Parts: sequence; structure tokens; C-alpha cells
Amino acid sequence: MDIGGLETVVANSAYVSARGGPGASGRDRRQRARLRLPHITQCEALRARLGGGHPPGGTHGAQGGGAQNGGGGGPDGVAAGGGLAGEDASFRWQCVEQPIGKLLFQRFLEGAPGLAAAGALWAELEAYERCEEAERSGAAAALRRRFFTPGGAEHCSFLSAAATATPTGEAPPTDFGQARRELLAHLEAVAWTPYRASPEFGRFVQFKWLEGQTVSAEAFVDFRVLGKGGFGEVCACQRRTTGKMYANKRLNKKRLKKRQGYEAALVEKRILARVHSRFIVSLACAFQTKTDLCLVMTLMNGGDLRYHVYNVDEDNPGFPEPRAVFYTAQILLGLEHLHQHRIVYRDLKPENVLLDDAGHVRLSDMGLAVELKEGQTKTRGYAGTPGFMAPEVLRDEEYDWAVDYFTLGVTLYEMLEAKGPFRRRGEKVENKEVTRRILHDPVSYSDRFSPAARAACEGLLAKDSSARLGFRENDCAQLKGASPTSLHTPSLPGLVPPPFVPDPRRVYAKDLGDVGAFSSVRGVELDEGDAALCDTFASGTVPIPWQEELIETGVFKELNIWGPPGTLPPDLDP
Ligand code: ADP
Ligand code: MG
Ligand code: MG
Repeated sequence: MDIGGLETVVANSAYVSARGGPGASGRDRRQRARLRLPHITQCEALRARLGGGHPPGGTHGAQGGGAQNGGGGGPDGVAAGGGLAGEDASFRWQCVEQPIGKLLFQRFLEGAPGLAAAGALWAELEAYERCEEAERSGAAAALRRRFFTPGGAEHCSFLSAAATATPTGEAPPTDFGQARRELLAHLEAVAWTPYRASPEFGRFVQFKWLEGQTVSAEAFVDFRVLGKGGFGEVCACQRRTTGKMYANKRLNKKRLKKRQGYEAALVEKRILARVHSRFIVSLACAFQTKTDLCLVMTLMNGGDLRYHVYNVDEDNPGFPEPRAVFYTAQILLGLEHLHQHRIVYRDLKPENVLLDDAGHVRLSDMGLAVELKEGQTKTRGYAGTPGFMAPEVLRDEEYDWAVDYFTLGVTLYEMLEAKGPFRRRGEKVENKEVTRRILHDPVSYSDRFSPAARAACEGLLAKDSSARLGFRENDCAQLKGASPTSLHTPSLPGLVPPPFVPDPRRVYAKDLGDVGAFSSVRGVELDEGDAALCDTFASGTVPIPWQEELIETGVFKELNIWGPPGTLPPDLDP
């Protein structure tokens, strides 16, 4: 084995053993101290910004100062400092959407005499949403008996008759949607103000304080490089304090400047922080070092689809149809989410679709995506990868999400055929010729395509965007219904087992020596304007993924200590 090979083996072992450890085992004990909650008196400014009342303890039922301004803080309301920029202090955001916020609000409800039944109903509604199909009707009946029966100990009389009506006859299975909406409205009206004067809210403020601390490279240990992008490398990393593994995409500042990449970096960061889907990588934080902008994202251990199409079994490239269809369905759900958020992706291709440990896929690489403003229906601009771009992009016309369904067609074709539809295998061909073929040539299909797969590809690769399958009336129902084998069957994680599960001991990335190095950037100096852009990029921790991480790694439980009932823990005692 040569030295390069040895280096890869060593790097792989370190990476495999770090990610294999159960949650906390990789945690650096010395770093653990960094995660101490601040004393509540250190967080008063933040508490006021989040709309909190007076310190709890002394006078109970304190008039929640600023509680009436729930809509988002007073004059100094929304987030001046820390990582809290743009944060809103709405009930939904504080008590429902943020995972730690929700747990603490629910704890408050449990202990509040007049609110416990509503809290229990909320918990049961969530359990109901997760329960198996076979148990649904029993669970629904039990829930009705417990909370909807007048005179019962836990009767939720604040719910309307319509929300609690028992469906009759052949009614579709209950989803309790209206009950849930009314419940949350009720909690906002009666529980939110007292909550903001409670110790639980104080605890929430402590966690928000911790969340808002500046993130730097020291927070992570780096492992091997997983891939190379246009502006820098992506490597595996692990947060010292929690042991959670992530991918760190580094963008070199000077290279960004030289190639006018700042705008793309900012767009990518903003979009990743905005979307929360199981089919798109999520962003845990954005920070900077002296030389790089860094995006810390969901680690996708299984490698990218391009690697799987061509490199896993080089003698037999491409996927059997059911596997290609499974990925296509998950990609479709990712696209649907983006399009519902008015984002055009523009760079779908196998290389940008990544596998996780279980074999599910997510979209990554939002660097070319664009966000359409409210009311804007079209955009323009030559963007994408040669061989994937839709005819309307190549013709420099205005276009919309339909371009992403063309790239989906190219991707599906490539998964099945192990070559793009506009290129012969192994052919070196100029972009101009590829463009000509996309605009004018029909696509040919080998016998690797079933009639249904061929029909799907033809529908997606329609040169006329108005005839193309895709996103209509806010979803992809037409495409899901019209397509091969199982595009219309649910491919949600957990419902359909993945057709291929990555080997946990294997590293699905090129050997280090083959990743390729960057040449150094010369003749570029960073100035104050660059520093301002970099500061905008480095917005720090993204709340939801960070809170999920703390809960999932057990760190939330370790920090969220409460004394005996009726007492306050020292860190909350003013
Ligand atoms: P670029 O925008 O420069 O193309 P990408 O975001 O596509 O960069 O990342 C480059 C490569 O790094 C990908 O093709 C993939 O192999 C690897 N990679 C990117 N993101 C992740 C991730 N979240 N987990 C694992 N590997 C990743
Ligand atoms: Mg890429
Ligand atoms: Mg990119």
C-alpha cells in the first residue's frame, strides 16, 4: 500500500469510529464545561427581548411585563445581538416550533393546575399522530372519552362542538386538526402569559442564551474530507460538547471573492436555514474562520448518488428500477418542499443527492438556488450543470420550477442508464453540442427502461415546459399519480424500507489522494466590504437543529435539572 492509501485508511478509521460511537461517547469531557447554563440573572436582557415577565419566585403570577406585545418584542424587540438575529417572539415559535421551547412549555402546563388537561390533550394528540394505522381507531376513541366527555376530570370544555364531534358513518379517519388548532389558540390565550413569568420560561431563556453564543471552529473536531466543491472541501466533523457528527462545508473567502461567489454563499446559507425537510440537508450553524466561511450541515454518511451510480460497482453501474424510483420519490418530496417555499433549485443531479446511514436521500448544495419573491412567478439566468439544464434555461428565457423537473428527468435517466440522456457513454463532448441535443434531439431509451419508467422520463424531459410533468397547484400530485411503479406510494422514511442500506463500516467517498487539492488563490486581498459580507454569513446557530441535537444526544436532559417541587434550582433563583 502506498503512503496515500495509508493516509486514507487512517483517516477512514478515525471517522468510522467517531460516527459509530453512541451519542455521548465521543464527547470531550473537558469541553463539557462549556455547556453550563448561565445563571438567570445573566440573561435578563435576553429574557426581556423574548417577552418574558419579571423573574419568577417572589411574587407569583407576576404581571408578565411585555407579555402583551407577543407579536415580536418592543422597540428593542427582535434580537440585536448574539445569534438571535431575525428571531421572532411569537407563541408559535417559542412554544410549538422550537423543540426545547416546546418541552419546557409542556412541563409548565403539566404543573399548572388549570392547564394540565390541555397539556395532556396536546401530548395525546401528538402520540396519536405517530401511532400505527391499525391502532388509530382505538386511540381516537380513547382520546375522545378522556378529553371530550362532558363532566370528565379532564374534559376540555374550551373546544367547540365541531372540533369534538364524533364522525359518523363512513367518515375518513379523524385527524383532530381542528381540535389541535383550537387547543393551541386556547393555550396562547390563557397559558402563554403565565408561562412567561414561570421558571420554565427562565430555563428556556437560559438555553436560548447558550444557543446564541458565538460559534467558532474550536467547537468542532474535524475528520476526513468527504468531497470537494467549487470553493472548498467538505469534511466530516463532530461537535465537541455533544458528540454529534456533522458535515462542514468550507468556502474559501479569497476564492469566493475572486470568483464572485459571495452572493451564492449567502443564498445557500439563507435557504438551508429556512427549509426544514427530511429530504433536504439541514443547517446546524454558519460561522467563519480567518480564511473560510463554514456551513455545518446534516452529515450524509452514505455518499452521493453519482458515486453510487458509477463507483460502487464499476462493472455494473446504474440502479435497478425500484431503487431508482425510490430515490426519485424522495427527491420529488424534497423538490416539492422547496417549491412550496418558492425556491427554484436549478442544480439537481446525482452528485447533489446524498445518502444517510439508513439509505434515505436528501438534496444538498443550494448554491445555485433562487428564491422567488411573493408574487414573482418567473426568474431568469443561466444556471445549472451542462447536460442537466432545461431548454428554457439554455434559450435564456424566463422560467420557473419546471426546470427542476427536467433535471429530475435527467437524474432518473442517469440512475437507470448510468449515463446522461444527452451523452453517449464515455463520450467527450462540447457543451455547445450538449445544448444542441437538449434543444433539438429526441432521447433514446434502452431496454433497461420499463414502459412506465420511460413514460416518466419522457414526461419529465418534455422540451416544452408547459407540457412537462411537475409542480401544479402547490404539489406534485399529478406527477406522483402518473408515474412508474411506486412514485405514488409513500416513500416517507419509515414507511418504505430503503432498497439499499450503506455499510456502516465503509466510507463512500473517494480516497483522499483522489479528492484533488485546490491551488492557492493569489492576488486577492480581503477588505472591509468582504468582512461585512462574511459577518452577514456567519449568523451562528440555527435554533431548531441545535435544540434537536441537545435533546437527541441527552445533553438537554443533563442540563435541565429541577429540584424538589416547590423549590427553584440555584441557577434560576434570583
Ligand atoms: P459545491 O456547491 O461546491 O458543489 P457541494 O455542497 O456539492 O459543493 O459539496 C461537494 C461534495 O461534498 C458533494 O458532492 C459530496 O460528495 C460532499 N458533501 C457535501 N455535503 C455533504 C454532506 N452534508 N454530507 C456528506 N458529504 C457531503
Ligand atoms: Mg455540488
Ligand atoms: Mg454549490
